Amino acid sequence: MPILNRIAEFHPEMTAWRQDFHTHPETAFEEVRTSGIIAEKLRQFGCDEVVTGIARTGVVGVIRGQGGNEGGGGRAIGLRADIDALPIEEATGLPYASQTRGKMHACGHDGHATMLLGAARYLAETRNFSGTVYVIFQPAEEAGGGGNVMVQEGLFDRFPMQRVFGMHNWPGAPEGSFYWRYGPVMAATANIKATITGKGAHGAMPHQGNDPIVIAAQIVSALQSVVARNIEPVEGGVLTIGHIQGGDTWNVIPQTVTLRGTARWFKPEVGDMLEAKFTSLVTGIAAAFGAEAEAVFDRGYPATVNEAESTDLAVKAALAVAGEARVVEMPKPTMGGEDFSFMLNAKPGNYIMLGAGRSPADPQVHHPKYDFNDAILPIGASYWATLAEQLLPRD
Ligand SMILES: [Zn+2]
Ligand SMILES: [Zn+2]
Repeated sequence: MPILNRIAEFHPEMTAWRQDFHTHPETAFEEVRTSGIIAEKLRQFGCDEVVTGIARTGVVGVIRGQGGNEGGGGRAIGLRADIDALPIEEATGLPYASQTRGKMHACGHDGHATMLLGAARYLAETRNFSGTVYVIFQPAEEAGGGGNVMVQEGLFDRFPMQRVFGMHNWPGAPEGSFYWRYGPVMAATANIKATITGKGAHGAMPHQGNDPIVIAAQIVSALQSVVARNIEPVEGGVLTIGHIQGGDTWNVIPQTVTLRGTARWFKPEVGDMLEAKFTSLVTGIAAAFGAEAEAVFDRGYPATVNEAESTDLAVKAALAVAGEARVVEMPKPTMGGEDFSFMLNAKPGNYIMLGAGRSPADPQVHHPKYDFNDAILPIGASYWATLAEQLLPRD
């Protein structure tokens, strides 16, 4: 069973929805137009309930199969798409490019929302399943952790389900292929910041000050040992300084220097170690030089970890849609972050990658020239629909 025929029939309509979302991008928790259109379409499709306002701009559509909840024995699954754009100035020059300055659908969430809408339309029309499908349209994946806010606002209490599934397009991987993985698939993240406060002085009279630039240099060097000398070599971890700021001119030693960066990891104990070592090196080195430093380790999204049985079920649906040659086990996770992790921490589930084709040299996600590939819309929608029909069979 490849792409579902009925879904292929409305591919042109899905393309129009996707390009309309693309023209009107909205960022974290401001997806008012986007979620308004989603809710309107879900009602048009005949969803049994359409709930808005969860995590501000989130929407959940409820689709009951034949026999409803009772007929389905209380069985239910959640399918989740993110809907937000990024604060990027688009440079594609496409006819349907962003009309909002400084905002762009540069991660393909316009496509994610559309694929789930396509599946919702098919499922509401055919009802070839028993039990309940919840289609979850989540705001603020790129910033603000909308996935966490939905869980905090009772997503899984209000919509009881056994499993939840997510999907992301992957440009550079063959078009219509699926990439799956047991266990960790995306990393946990933290924004890190160190503020070193010494004593400023004339650049020609350094003995009268306490140079925070020299101290910052020592700290940056020492931080390189955290991953290299503390994490077991087969485990994953990153500690990157991406920003260093201090001073204004040639001949003045400044008072303060600021370092900012990112930390990534998979295992909670590795995250705890990164935090402890980052904090002790920053404060300890500054103190050894007679200065002061403040270290901030601001945790963001937890690691995205796939549950084994849900992953087997996701792979089975992907195989039905794409065939054996195009369903591939990922050899390793990526160090990117993803707030679907909050849902996976609360419910068993799986997060799968859908190959978006084009060349690996073409613009990747978060690039001002990236664009979602509309050719994969019916493939993603068919995956969602197949997953629902396989997991919630009528007999
Ligand atoms: Zn992104
Ligand atoms: Zn994304």
